[in-house]
Amino acid sequence: MLINKIEDVRNQVKEWRKEGLSVGLVPTMGALHEGHLSLIKKAKEACDRVVVSVFVNPIQFGPSEDFDKYPRTLEADTKLCDGEGVDVVFAPTPNEMYGGGRLSNDTLTYVCPPFFYVNKLCGKSRVGHFDGVCTVVLKLFNIVQPDFGFFGQKDAQQVIVIKKMVKDLNVPIEIVQCPIVREESGLALSSRNKYLTEQGKIDALVLSKILNNIKVCYNKGITDVSALKETVYSFLTDKHELEYIEILNRETLEEEKNANKNSIALIACRVEGVRLIDNIYLGE
Ligand code: AMP
Repeated sequence: MLINKIEDVRNQVKEWRKEGLSVGLVPTMGALHEGHLSLIKKAKEACDRVVVSVFVNPIQFGPSEDFDKYPRTLEADTKLCDGEGVDVVFAPTPNEMYGGGRLSNDTLTYVCPPFFYVNKLCGKSRVGHFDGVCTVVLKLFNIVQPDFGFFGQKDAQQVIVIKKMVKDLNVPIEIVQCPIVREESGLALSSRNKYLTEQGKIDALVLSKILNNIKVCYNKGITDVSALKETVYSFLTDKHELEYIEILNRETLEEEKNANKNSIALIACRVEGVRLIDNIYLGE
């Protein structure tokens, strides 16, 4: 069932609650692919009823980012959700979520995650991005009031920031993290892969290759983070614009001199002007 109005999704969830059913929420921006579907499948296993939100959230995009051209494929998304047995696709308009008018931090109460978690990785180049993410996720949590929220490790910093928000603000929702789904080639699935040409998709394999190589080096006994980071340069060509490569603690995003079983390697790199991210746990 497709629902656009906050009040309607609230009423539906209320009905389920009366029946004692558990509810899972999978927040997405649509243009659904197998990565999203893996979260939906997990939600179906764990919950009696599943809501998938499809909302391209304006407040998490910077002024020069791809908000306008972000792929919007609601009809196809709804069909995919139906195929997975999703109970409600919640697809509000920006106006429904935020009301009309100018959106800024003078006009909206924002959730601002701690600087320590957002002054690095994607938060460094996308200033304010995680304020927008946390604000919309908390709104969706308050609208749907699910028991569980499902998020992908693909956006590793995002899920860490959301777990922190949930803990700090006592949000009574369990966050379930799901593994990264990749193409057979190794490319992590992303709605933004749609922007790439066939050649771009080949060039984009450098992200997973770099991460896998770091893991191979780590498994061979190289733990010095600077040495591991140095290995990336042999992979990069003029097709690649590296934004960051970091090896951090996978729970806290703290820097460590030596990689260990709790480390995560994370990369952001532009290919054909498309900003792609990926990550890998070194200890698994
Ligand atoms: P998005 O629509 O890009 O905001 O993503 C919605 C959710 O799907 C987020 O929790 C993402 O981490 C997750 N997701 C996106 N791509 C993948 C993937 N390749 N594997 C697993 N989860 C993913």
